[in-house]
Formats: sequence, structure tokens, C-alpha cells
Amino acid sequence: MTAFFYLVAFLFGLAIGSFLNVCIYRIPAGLSLVHPPSRCPACETPVRPVDNVPLLSFLLLKGKCRSCGAPISWRYPAVEALTGVVFVLLYARFGMSINALAGIFFASVVIVVSFIDLDTERIPNKVILPAIAAGAALIVPDFVGYKILPLVGGGALHSIAGFFVGGGSLLIIALAAPLFFKKDAMGGGDIKLAAFIGLFLGVYSLLALFFSFLIGAIAGVFLLARGSRGRSDTIPFGPYLAIGAIIVTLGGPELWRFYLAASGLA
Ligand SMILES: [Zn+2]
Repeated sequence: MTAFFYLVAFLFGLAIGSFLNVCIYRIPAGLSLVHPPSRCPACETPVRPVDNVPLLSFLLLKGKCRSCGAPISWRYPAVEALTGVVFVLLYARFGMSINALAGIFFASVVIVVSFIDLDTERIPNKVILPAIAAGAALIVPDFVGYKILPLVGGGALHSIAGFFVGGGSLLIIALAAPLFFKKDAMGGGDIKLAAFIGLFLGVYSLLALFFSFLIGAIAGVFLLARGSRGRSDTIPFGPYLAIGAIIVTLGGPELWRFYLAASGLA
């Protein structure tokens, strides 16, 4: 029976991932999320429902439009599969609970803003501001003894602290970086995303920021070594914030305890 619920979580993730693809492509273009139905960007033929099954259709069509044969971006199935895997891990962590639903919302937002950031180098206010409002609403039930956020550790006050500490950390970096590098290191979108992460992870958002910078630094060195990025190119930071946030959602307290034990501090 357990395997069945994991399968349901994965299939649910694929379906939501399919919707996240629509958000990723349409929100920056200012298009409606519901109308018109999906079309092939090359020949504009509407995608038939049978060719719109997450993951499966891409494999059956071998990554090509049925009408004109134009290649379909591998990112569609990749986002679907990623969302499916993240939902399985969230189910493993939170079980069937309101926290799992909050985790699903959280992961969906960070996935959408990551890919939009990769495409456009910005994090749109029309995604992150409503998301922050939703996160703020989700901390309210804790004041009447029904905790939803943060997803790891603490209570509502930790979420509020996380909001200011997470957003504040990146604000300080954004203000300080031009003094050292003569260019902007952080955008306003990154600050808002970090504040949003703070609502959901409380003071553990600092651990998420640590992972974001660590993975961002490793990726930066790798991209520089491969020659695919110059030293002066800006690297969208949203995806790294998202990776750090998902790692800490899934295992923040365990990783922190492991660190304390390994370093001899506890
Ligand atoms: Zn086509």
C-alpha cells in the first residue's frame, strides 16, 4: 500500500509539473494560464490531449511535434519529472498532511521562479508577491495552536524571523556587493525569494542560504572552467536558492544535527 501512495505522489507531481511548465512559459510573456490550450510553438497546431500526457507523450513522440516534427524542448519532461520526484520526497518527509500540501505549494513556487529566472534573469513580482502573501497567511493558524509553517523547526515567530533574516541577508549582500565587485550581485527578486523561503523554513532558511551559496559557488567554478560563462556574466541566483530551500525542507534539521556531531560541537 505504501508503494501505491508513492506512485500517487509521483503522478500528482507529474500533473502539477505540467501546469508549472505552463506557468514558466506563459507568465513572463504575460499570457493567460488557461487560454488558449497548448500549441506547438513552431507550427501552432493545438496539442491534442493524448499528446499532452506528462512525461509519457514526450517519450512516445520521441521529443518531436506530431504535426511538423519540430523538436519539443527537453525541459518540459524534465520539469515534470523533477516535480514528480520532489513530491515523492515531500510525501516521504511529511506523509499525508497539511504540511505536505504546504510543502507542495512551496516547492512549486521555487521551481517556477527558478526556471523563469534562468530564462529571463528576473523573478516576477506577480509570482513572488502573491506567494509571500500566501506564506504569511499560512503562519496565522499557529497562533491558535495549529502549526503549518515553518515546515522545519519552530513556530510562527520563527517564520517571521526567517522572513526578515532570509530577505535581510540577501539585502545586505545586494547593498555590499557593488562596493567590492563593481556590479550588482543580487536582484530585488532574489531578496523577495529569500524572504519567502524564510516564511516556510524559519531560522533554517539560513542553512538553506548556506547551501545555495555553496552550490552556486561550485556551479560558478564549473561553468567558468568549462568556459561557458565569463567572469563578468551574471548567474541567475534563484535556482540556487530553490535547491538550498528544497534540500533543507527535506532534511534541514537532520543535516544540522549531522554537522554539529561531525564538527564536535554537540
Ligand atoms: Zn509543430
